[in-house]
Amino acid sequence: MAERVTDFFGSDVFNDAVMKERLPEATYKALKKTMENGEELDPQIADVVAAAIKDWAIEKGATHYTHWFQPMTGITAEKHDAFITPADEGKVLLEFSGKELIKGEPDASSFPSGGLRATCEARGYTTWDCTSPAFVKEDAAGVTLCIPTAFCSYTGEALDKKTPLLRSMEAIDREATRILKLFGHDEVTNVSCSVGPEQEYFLIDRDKYLQREDLIFTGRTLFGAKPPKGSEMDDHYFGALKERVAAYMKELNYELWKLGVLAKTQHNEAAPAQHELAPIYSTANISVDHNQLVMEVMKKVAKRHNLECLLHEKPFKHLHGSGKHNNWSIVTNTGKNLLSPGKHPNENLEFLLFITAVIKAVDEHATLLRYSASNPGNDHRLGGHEAPPAIISIFLGEQLEDIVRQIIETGEAKDCKQKVYMNIGVHTLPEIRKDATDRNRTSPFAFTGNKFEFRMLGSSMSVAGPNTILNTIIADTLSQFSDELERVPAAEFETALKKLLQRELTAHERIIFNGDGYSEEWTKEAERRGLPNEASIVGATKALLYDKTIEVFTKHKVFSRVELEARAEMNYENYAKTINIEAKTMLDMVRRMYIPAVISYATEVANSINSVRAAVPTANFSVQEKLLTRISELLAETENAKERLREARQACLVIKDAKKKAEAYRENVVPAMEALRVPVDALEKIVDKKFWPVPTYGDLVFEV
Ligand code: ADP
Ligand code: MG
Repeated sequence: MAERVTDFFGSDVFNDAVMKERLPEATYKALKKTMENGEELDPQIADVVAAAIKDWAIEKGATHYTHWFQPMTGITAEKHDAFITPADEGKVLLEFSGKELIKGEPDASSFPSGGLRATCEARGYTTWDCTSPAFVKEDAAGVTLCIPTAFCSYTGEALDKKTPLLRSMEAIDREATRILKLFGHDEVTNVSCSVGPEQEYFLIDRDKYLQREDLIFTGRTLFGAKPPKGSEMDDHYFGALKERVAAYMKELNYELWKLGVLAKTQHNEAAPAQHELAPIYSTANISVDHNQLVMEVMKKVAKRHNLECLLHEKPFKHLHGSGKHNNWSIVTNTGKNLLSPGKHPNENLEFLLFITAVIKAVDEHATLLRYSASNPGNDHRLGGHEAPPAIISIFLGEQLEDIVRQIIETGEAKDCKQKVYMNIGVHTLPEIRKDATDRNRTSPFAFTGNKFEFRMLGSSMSVAGPNTILNTIIADTLSQFSDELERVPAAEFETALKKLLQRELTAHERIIFNGDGYSEEWTKEAERRGLPNEASIVGATKALLYDKTIEVFTKHKVFSRVELEARAEMNYENYAKTINIEAKTMLDMVRRMYIPAVISYATEVANSINSVRAAVPTANFSVQEKLLTRISELLAETENAKERLREARQACLVIKDAKKKAEAYRENVVPAMEALRVPVDALEKIVDKKFWPVPTYGDLVFEV
C-alpha cells in the first residue's frame, strides 16, 4: 500500500493505455471507433483483441474468464470458465478466442425474466459491451478476467439492466445531436450522458450482525426499539472517522482505484454507523458498472475487517435510511456540458431548451421516474420523513426559477440574477463567490449548477434503471422539439424557439417547486397541482404500462411492449417475494427467539416473587408484580399479532396473479408486520438485557 495512487490506479483494468500498448495500431483504432462513435464491431478484430486481453490477464495471474452481466436481480452475475483447452501429451493450452470474447451462452435460466423466458426454452446470450473496459478480479478464487456484457434472450429481448441502458444512450445521443444541428453545431457528432452516483451505506460489527437473523435474511432489522440516542445531535454527520472505519475506507479505496473506479469523496453520514462514498462521474454505462463494483467491493472488504456493510435502504427504523444520489448531465463529444448555464443563462437559448426538455419529460413521466427509483426497501424511505418525498418535483434554484418565470410571463428572460461575492466578516478569510443558487436537500430532482441530481434512488439499487428512464424520456422530448423546430425556416428559428419555451414552461410549471419537500403543505399543494403521489412501489409499477410509456419506449427502441410487461411482472413478483421472506423471518424470530426469551425472563421474575415471599412474607412485591403483569400482556399481544401475520401471509400464498399478490402483501402483510414489531419492541425496553436474544440498535450502530 506504500505505492503511489498514480502508479497503481487502474492496474486491474484493460484500459486505454494497455490497449494502445498491446493492440496492433489498426485494431486499436477500429476498437476505439466502435467505443466512441458506436460503430459496429468488426468480428475480425475480436480475435486480435481476445488474444491481447488473454495475455494481459494471464500475466496478472488469471486462470478463468467470465462474462460479467447484470440480470434483473439488480446485482451482477458471473460464471467462470478456465482458459484451458486440451493439448498433446495430456497437457493443456490456455486459449481465448474472439468468439468467446464476444458471445457467451450461460444457461442462466434461473434469473427473473417476467415470463420472457420459460425454463424449457432456456437460451440466453451474453454479448461483449466493448464500451466498458474488461478488468481482472482477485479473490479467493484466484484471478478472474471479467468481461462486461449485455444479457438477452434467444429472441433478443433484454433480460438485464445493461441492454436497455445502452439502447437509451443511443436514443439520447441521436436526439441531442439532432437538435444541436438546429443551433448550427455540425461539429457535434456524438452526445453522451454522465452519471455520478453518491453511495450511502452502513457499517456494523460482523459478530453482532451474525446474531441477527433479520439482517442476514432480509438486509434490514425487522425488530428493534428506538435507542436513547439517534442522530439528533448531528455529531456523526461529517464527524471524524473511527479508526476501524478509517482502515476500512483506506482498503476500500485501494481496491476500487485498482479497478479504475474514481472513488473521490468519503465521509460519515447523518445516522450513526452510516457513511458515504462518491466517485467522480463518468459515462453512464461505465458509471453503472463501477457502482456495481463499488457495492460488491464494499461488502467484500467489510468482511476482511470483521465488519458487515449494509446497503439496504432502511436497515434501522427510527434512523436515517440510505439512498443514492444520481447526478446526471449530457455532454457532447466536443466536451461541452449541455446543462451548463454559462454566464448569462437567460440569453442561452440552447441551454434553456435542454432544461425545458428535462422539465417536460419529468412532468410527463413523473410516476415512471418514481417507479425507476423504487424497490421494496425504498418504500420505507420515499414518503417517510428524512428522504425525498414520493412526489416528484424539480428544484431549479433562484436564478433559473426567475428566468423561467420571466419566460412564462413575457416570452423571454431579459435579465438574470448573478453570482455575488460573500461577506464573511473576517478580513483574513479569502473572498469567495457564492453560487447563483443555494441548495435544497428536500427536493427529489434538483438542478445543481450544471447537472440534475435525482435523489430518490435507493442505496442498494442498480443505477441502470433510473438512467435508462431518464435518458429515454428526455430523448423523446428533444425529439418532439426537433420535429417542431425543423419545420421552421432558419430566419424564424429564434422566434419559434422562444414560443416553444414559453408554451412548454407554462404547461409544465407545476412540476417546479423550490420549497420544503418534506412539509405537509407541499403534499397538499402537490395534490392541488395534480402531481402524482405514489406511496409504494406496487402502485408506481403501473406506470411501466401507461400508453405514453409504451409509446415513448417503443418509439426509441429502448423497451418493446413485451419487455415492459415483463419488467412489471418481475417487479410485482420481486415485491411479493421480498415481503414474504421478511414475514417468514419475523415469524421465525418471534417463535424461536423472542417468545422463549421473554418466557424465561417472566419465569425468573415469577420465581423471584415466590422466593421473596417465602423469605419475607410481608415484603412488597409491587415492582415484580407490575413488571410480570406488563410482560404477560405484551407477550399475549405478541402471540396475537404473530397469528394475524401468519394468517395474512397464508392468504397471500394462494394468490396467482402477480400484481394482485403484490397488492395483497402490501395491503395486508406489511401492516401485520408493523403491528407485530410493536409489542416486541416494547418488550425490548423492559426485559432484562441478559435475556434479550439479539443485539439492540444501540449495540449495533454505536459500537462499531
Ligand atoms: P454534492 O452533491 O455533495 O454537491 P458534487 O457536486 O461534488 O457533490 O458531486 C456529487 C457527484 O456528482 C459526484 O459523483 C460528481 O462527480 C458528480 N458530478 C459532478 N458534476 C457532474 C456532471 N456534470 N454530470 C454528472 N455528474 C456530475
Ligand atoms: Mg449530492
